[in-house]
Parts: sequence; C-alpha cells; structure tokens
Amino acid sequence: MVVNDYPAHPQASMVAVEQGVKSLILLPITARDRMLGMLSLISVKTGHFTADRVQLLTGIADGLGIFLENAELNEQVSLELELRRRSEEQLRQQTEDLEALLGFARVAIGPGSLEEKLTSILEALRRISATNEVALRVPDPDNGSLVLVAETGDSDMTGQPKALTRGVSVKAFDLGEAVIANDYPSSPDHIADTVAKGANSMMALPVKTGHSILAIVVLISKHRYHFSPQLIARITSLGEGIGVLLENARLNHEVTFKEDLEQRRDTFVSVAFHEIRTPMAVIEGYSELLLNKTLPEHIKQESLERIHRNARSLSAIVDDMLNVSRIHSGKLTLDPKHVSLANLLAEVAASLEPIYVQHQIYIEIGAQVPPVFADVDKLSQILTNLVDNALKYSPDGGDITITATHDPKRDRVVVAIADEGLGIPPEDREGLFELFHRIRRPETAGIKGSGLGLYIVKEMLDLLNREIWVESELGKGSTFFVSLPTK
Ligand code: ADP
Repeated sequence: MVVNDYPAHPQASMVAVEQGVKSLILLPITARDRMLGMLSLISVKTGHFTADRVQLLTGIADGLGIFLENAELNEQVSLELELRRRSEEQLRQQTEDLEALLGFARVAIGPGSLEEKLTSILEALRRISATNEVALRVPDPDNGSLVLVAETGDSDMTGQPKALTRGVSVKAFDLGEAVIANDYPSSPDHIADTVAKGANSMMALPVKTGHSILAIVVLISKHRYHFSPQLIARITSLGEGIGVLLENARLNHEVTFKEDLEQRRDTFVSVAFHEIRTPMAVIEGYSELLLNKTLPEHIKQESLERIHRNARSLSAIVDDMLNVSRIHSGKLTLDPKHVSLANLLAEVAASLEPIYVQHQIYIEIGAQVPPVFADVDKLSQILTNLVDNALKYSPDGGDITITATHDPKRDRVVVAIADEGLGIPPEDREGLFELFHRIRRPETAGIKGSGLGLYIVKEMLDLLNREIWVESELGKGSTFFVSLPTK
C-alpha cells in the first residue's frame, strides 16, 4: 500500500501528521503465501514513493521474507544456536584480549606518569577478569619482600598490605609460575587481613621479561572458585604482553629519549595502529553480522573464515610489534643451544604450508650438515619470516627451496631460502632491512605486510652476530641467505 500524500488520507493519524509524515509505504513480508510481518517506511516528503522506489522496496521485502523464514527455521535448531553462541563468545573474548593487549601498548608508549600507566593496565585486567581487586607488586632487592606499587579495585578491597614476605604472591614469585587459590580463606598461604577484606579467591601471576620476574600481578575476587581454567589461561596469556610493556613503560618513564628515537617511536605507533585497524575493522564487521542476523550457512562459514584469517594476521602483527618493542628496549635475550635444522625447518614449513596451497616447499639438507648453535625461538622466527616472505612474494605459486650447506672453515652453516617469485630489483635493495621498509611496485600492491619482518630478522641476526644477504632477479625470484654458527 502506497500513500504519497499522507495528510490527505482519510485514515491518517493526527499524531503522525503532526510529526511531519508526508508519505508512507506498507509492504507485506511473505514467504510461501504466509504473512510473516510488515515493513513500513515513512518519509517527510510528499510523493516520496515513486514507482522505482516501490519496485525496489518490494524486492527488498521479498528478500526479507526468505530471510525471516530462514531465521525461523534456524531458531528451531537449538544445537546450532548453542554452537554459534559458543563461537561468538570465544570470538568476543579473543577480540577483548587483543584489544586489551593493544590498550597496554598504547598506554605503555603514550604519555602519563608511570603510576597512571600501571593503574590503567591493571584496570583493563580487572575488567577482563571480572575480579574485585588487582594489584601489582615488585620485589624489593634489599630485603626480598614484595612491595605494592599499584592497585585498583572496589573501595573495600583496596589498601592491601604494603610489603609482603609470605602469601600467595610470594609463593608465585618463588615458584616462577602462577599460583591459584580458589578457596583463599582455607589456603595455607592466606593472609588474615586480606580474608577480612572479603577475599575468597586469588590468582598471583609472575610477569616476566626474559628469565627474570619483573613483578607479580595479584587478582582477587570476592567469590570462591572465581578462577576457571579458561580464565586462568586468558590471564596467563596476557601476562607476557604486560611484561614487555611494563618494562617499556618503566624505561619510557625513567629515560628521556633523544628526539630521533621519539620520532621513530611515533612512526612505529602510527604505522602499527594503521596496520591493526584494517583487520580489526574486518573482524568487527563480520562478527557483528554474525551476532545480529541469522544468515544462510555459506555466508556464516565465509564470515567465520574471514574473521579467522584476519585474527591470524592481527596476532602476527601484535607478535611483530612485541618483538620490535623488545628490540627497542634491549630486552631481546638469547638462550643458544645446538639445534637440528632439519627438524626446525620441517616445523616452519608445516606451519606455513596450510596457508599457501599453491606452493611446494622443498628442504635439502646434506647428511654432513651439523646442528647450528642458536636460540631456537629466535631462529624459528627468523626462518619463519623468510619462508613466509618467499611464499607471500610468489603470488603465482612455485617452488620454495631451502638448502643448508656446511662451511667448516668458518664454522658456519649457510641456509638459503629460494623462491620463484617477484624478485627484487637492485634499486629496491637499499633499505630492505629497515623498519617499515616496503617495496612499492604495482606487483606488490595487493600483498599485505607491515615492513616489520625483515627488520626483525636483521636485528635478531645482529644479536647473534650473524649476517644476511640476498641475491635476486626481477621476475625470476629471490634467494635470502643467512649464516648460522655451529659452535
Ligand atoms: P612485509 O612483508 O611486511 O612488507 P618485510 O620486512 O618482511 O615486510 O619485507 C620488506 C619488503 O621486502 C617487502 O615489502 C617486499 O617488497 C620485499 N621482500 C621481502 N622478501 C621478499 C621476497 N622473497 N621476494 C620479493 N620481495 C621480498
């Protein structure tokens, strides 16, 4: 039903006319001859619903019919709904954790006093963990006690003891791992004052950088059994990020940086957040779609896949940021051991193969190649970044060949990662290993990246006192070489 001069209509409502309604359209929503609902649109313009618009809106109403019918059907399938609810909840939690981590980074790098920064990080943790009090304690090198440096919580919970020499947090510090007391009043480590304030469960988490414990985060709840295995896992996974950023916050606070360093930091922050915004927006958009509407199965599947892909790239960016942050604060530590390249390369290839289906990865290691002497995590990161680039910059597929050759005279093994991809022209090789350096050519335009990968590789190799070099021909492919020590 179309009414293009509403005030003149015999059944017009006075209220609607007063509100300025001039035209109106009412469209039945039907599915298989069943009336499911009504779509009504109003306009403040006379004659708004032209024939074209009516046709368009009729089409939309028909579509809605199919959609609503689907929704009705789906409502009946409770198992599916339950599954969806769970994956939505998981997704929500993951997004929340990532946001918290980014929040920490923003706080750590941004302005403000050390105390403000710490409090706002603790506040985020308190929100995520739904606890009543979160405190941060650091060891006092003089007497070994754990001193309260920041806390945030309900008014009846704050004011925790200033220095502690026993209790759950001291236990966590001594053990170097998280301690959970889900029935705090009956824990042998309870402290009477804290019980008197209403504490019923407690979790103490060591915050580490490298091998040393920087601080202990103490989370307290008024409820018994507050810390479920899932919550413990989430809090623990946020712990590492907090460590690095706490350290950064402390450094930022104490050291006055030279201008160029600040400039670099500013660029880092703005590029990093720019990189994060895109996948974040995609995740937000698609999860909203999944939350608000019951969609056909294939669209749901596609949305979830997109969310998954973007969450992966988001966590890769966050990992890169944390690495760069560690490099900048001099916190990259090494724990070298003898490592078999065959195993490590097989792992690296296996982790990347499912993402790139068009490529073949070949690993060729001679029997006489000895193990290398390196920090396995750093080495794995270096090789992953290089193999990932080899795959990424071969958009048409092709072979990736990884070879390792022994150079006994110089006690080294040279690993070469060769691709058949785009190649790098000589003029673009300068600055290849610099922070944020990306080659901007038409062929690379659609390839995502942040220009952090090779910088991290180079910095990590510098730390190992090792070199990296590249041979490449435009259009034919590139080979990146890294030399690794055998002792
Ligand atoms: P990202 O891949 O995030 O842009 P990287 O620091 O890993 O950052 O690489 C910097 C640039 O070097 C890339 O933008 C790309 O243009 C170029 N590059 C790296 N590896 C290769 C490769 N195997 N083949 C061609 N170009 C490469």
